[in-house]
Amino acid sequence: MDFLDKLADKVSSGTKKISQKTDEIIEITELKLDLKNIEDEIEEAKLYIGELVYKYFLSNDSSMPVGQIKGKCREIQRMEAQKNRMKARIYRIKGLAYCRFCGEAIDDEENYCSKCGHKIIRY
Ligand SMILES: [Zn+2]
Repeated sequence: MDFLDKLADKVSSGTKKISQKTDEIIEITELKLDLKNIEDEIEEAKLYIGELVYKYFLSNDSSMPVGQIKGKCREIQRMEAQKNRMKARIYRIKGLAYCRFCGEAIDDEENYCSKCGHKIIRY
């Protein structure tokens, strides 16, 4: 391989690395936006539950809308799980360690997750 071929090779692998980095940055940006949206949806769902409870408090004759409240709570639970998966994906792209149960970032010296308390599994 002559000098120019080697140079072309280097440039091409450098360009590949840069475009891979760019893809990662774009994906992280999109994930962060999705994360923000889901956090807003979770807050909205919590407000909705609050409204239901307050309406129940104000009206003397109606009974607590337990079914509706439980339904919203389950929705929140699903969104929280989705949120954790997104967070984990961001940490994975960045090459950071994270908890496989809740998606929280973890330090190298930690053996248990500071958020959910699960033992850290290292591979
Ligand atoms: Zn955790």
